[in-house]
Amino acid sequence: MEKHLLSKSTFMRGAQCPKSLYLHKKRPFLRDRLAPEQLAKFRRGTKLGLVAQRLFPGGIDVRPRSYQQYAKKLMETQEVIHSQSHDVIYEAGFQYDRLLVFLDILAKEENNWVGYEVKSALKISDTFLLDAAFQYYVITNSGLPLKDFQIIYINKDYQFDGTLNLDALFNKESVLDRILPLQSFVKEKIEESKAALELKKSPPIEPGAQCTTPYPCDFIGHCWKKIPKEQWPQISYSGEEFYDFVDEVLKLVKVV
Ligand code: SF4
Repeated sequence: MEKHLLSKSTFMRGAQCPKSLYLHKKRPFLRDRLAPEQLAKFRRGTKLGLVAQRLFPGGIDVRPRSYQQYAKKLMETQEVIHSQSHDVIYEAGFQYDRLLVFLDILAKEENNWVGYEVKSALKISDTFLLDAAFQYYVITNSGLPLKDFQIIYINKDYQFDGTLNLDALFNKESVLDRILPLQSFVKEKIEESKAALELKKSPPIEPGAQCTTPYPCDFIGHCWKKIPKEQWPQISYSGEEFYDFVDEVLKLVKVV
């Protein structure tokens, strides 16, 4: 099996800035040190994903534990789907055209597969839609039709009354009608990213708004080094109240 060129995270990186993708793949040593707040955010997201799996009990987990397990887990996913041994798969892996995704939750409902992506957030953003659109593109082109694709996120009106109710804590929302029109845009971005990776040196992209939106880029120290520090973008990690709330939930379900 040919090694993948783009995963979900590198696709999103390339869509934000092809230079960031290039540097990530070819000059990783130029990367800024990860801020502890960002690291905490990643960990929180992963743990919340595990909590959301409880909405779909009895599934089989094919999450790769290391990069070396990717091929094995892709095969395992296919085996589970074809043998029909489980109706729920956590971290189902798919590859198409050197693009790789591991989907948070794949569930069979009335004989049709539905994809679920879990987000540690209170609403669905355009970035989440693009991320979902990429996953839908890879999974369906790899040969598995999806009847629906939904994003699971936190219900902002949830009131904890002493007993944790996961069905009330999470919102599940279909985004299929919003990601289908994005499929040609996804294809365009994939081609743009693949072309950037073919270059002999990094694409000539000037620092700008893309350095912090939608995510803070981790090559700011490299790209902005000739610009006076006072003009560097300010990275904010707002949302502390929300993070405290998520941390409380994680404690309640004992995943911390
Ligand atoms: S710092 Fe800005 S210009 Fe440089 S790679 Fe990141 S997003 Fe692109």
